[in-house]
Amino acid sequence: MFLEMESKDIFRQAQQHAFGYADGVRERHVFPTPEAIADLEQFTERLPGSIGNAGDVIEQLHRYGSPASVAQTGGRYFGFVNGGTLPVSLAARWLGDFWDQNSALHVMSPVAAKLEEITEGWLRELLGLPEQVVAGFVSGTSMSIFCGLAAARYRIFQNKNWDINQRGFRGAPPVRIITGRHAHGTVVKAISLLGFGTDNIEWIDCDDQGRIIPSALPELDDSTILILQAGNVSSGAFDPLEEICDRASKAKAWVHVDGAFGLWAAASSELAHLTRGMGKANSFSVDAHKTLNTPYDSGIVLCSDKEALINALQASGSYISYSENRDGMLLTPEMSRRARVIELWAALKYLGKAGVDELITQLHKRALQIAEELRAENFTILNDVVFNQVLVACDNDTLTNQTMSHIQASGECWAGGANWKGRSVIRVSVCSWATTKEDISRTTRAFVAARDKAIGDQRVASVLGEMPADGTDLNGQ
Ligand SMILES: *Cc1c(COP(=O)(O)O)cnc(C)c1O
Repeated sequence: MFLEMESKDIFRQAQQHAFGYADGVRERHVFPTPEAIADLEQFTERLPGSIGNAGDVIEQLHRYGSPASVAQTGGRYFGFVNGGTLPVSLAARWLGDFWDQNSALHVMSPVAAKLEEITEGWLRELLGLPEQVVAGFVSGTSMSIFCGLAAARYRIFQNKNWDINQRGFRGAPPVRIITGRHAHGTVVKAISLLGFGTDNIEWIDCDDQGRIIPSALPELDDSTILILQAGNVSSGAFDPLEEICDRASKAKAWVHVDGAFGLWAAASSELAHLTRGMGKANSFSVDAHKTLNTPYDSGIVLCSDKEALINALQASGSYISYSENRDGMLLTPEMSRRARVIELWAALKYLGKAGVDELITQLHKRALQIAEELRAENFTILNDVVFNQVLVACDNDTLTNQTMSHIQASGECWAGGANWKGRSVIRVSVCSWATTKEDISRTTRAFVAARDKAIGDQRVASVLGEMPADGTDLNGQ
């Protein structure tokens, strides 16, 4: 009745489609066409009543799913801060998927436990973190921030003889939560999930790049959890980590560094200065699925206080036998968990120190390249390009927004929008190993064509009496 594993035709079929996809991904529309999105209606159907044909399932997925996917792996996707996929990492994932390992306990998967242990050490070395730092392999930075702050919560309360796991918040001694006004939304989410209450955040002012202004920090103490940022999601800017970590460690405050994409700067000889001094922090969050270009579902929490992390996240049950060996679930919130470390291990094993350095440094160079090319075409770059993020604006917000719509519809590349200091911007995140110099120049040409089109639209609209030619009146402003 069930299709058996030995019948490999289904995998050959999937492989053929996957390879065809990879062959076309550099030239297809980066964002799916309206027709491809309309075709997604083919998935709107009733739950089948009985077992069907496995080949048909794969066929449907490819026929209607592949064209409606966003071509992230093609080299000209600059949306959000997403990243591409290293082929070796993807291939390792394929093999690992056939193993279907559960990485909760060593006894469930000795190979996953071993790779976690080895990768943990490699990460410490690459990022220049102290020997006592441990790593938990989680789904992404949202979860790793949650874990880091849970460890912080456990430790700060424990130091005041308060077991937060047992006693909860009622009657608990006060704890302070301090972060910059530019903290990522997932930091705020973790603060609420952990019960601190977002009303209790002490917000710190930032400079024009979104960096915390050190002199704006209040007195820190041993009741403080301070959350810093290595890589602002818009500007790419880094908080002054050295100065602040130094102050915080003297005051015995707990520092968490959210470095979802920026922590990797530590592994680039050219950019490591951005993360200097961060080793004094207590916990860190970083994604492999962004800057390092592993497939999705790969975040890491790093913590210098193993006992706090384990106590904050530990679950227990009579059937769980902890071993002398590494039991990954102790360092993560989940119990059952796929062995996502496989593709992270493969990326690091393949790249080595020099390869990671080159990958990170190249992203930065491509970001500098697009900033320079766009400036030459009279676009305005609003941020200092210290890492991989570039904030682009036209002469006015309306033109910026219309240009962005044309860019997105062009299929040539894709970049999203943001608001930076009250201005509409197009946010370009160079995040994939696959982005070449030529991809950047082609993207510049797409930006120029899109702006020309937007100016043309405005002229037509102006002739029709809808708005003035400079477009400033579109939003009634
Ligand atoms: C992407 C990002 C996050 C969230 O990470 P996920 O992996 O998407 O959960 C948090 N902080 C920053 C700065 C980010 O760029």
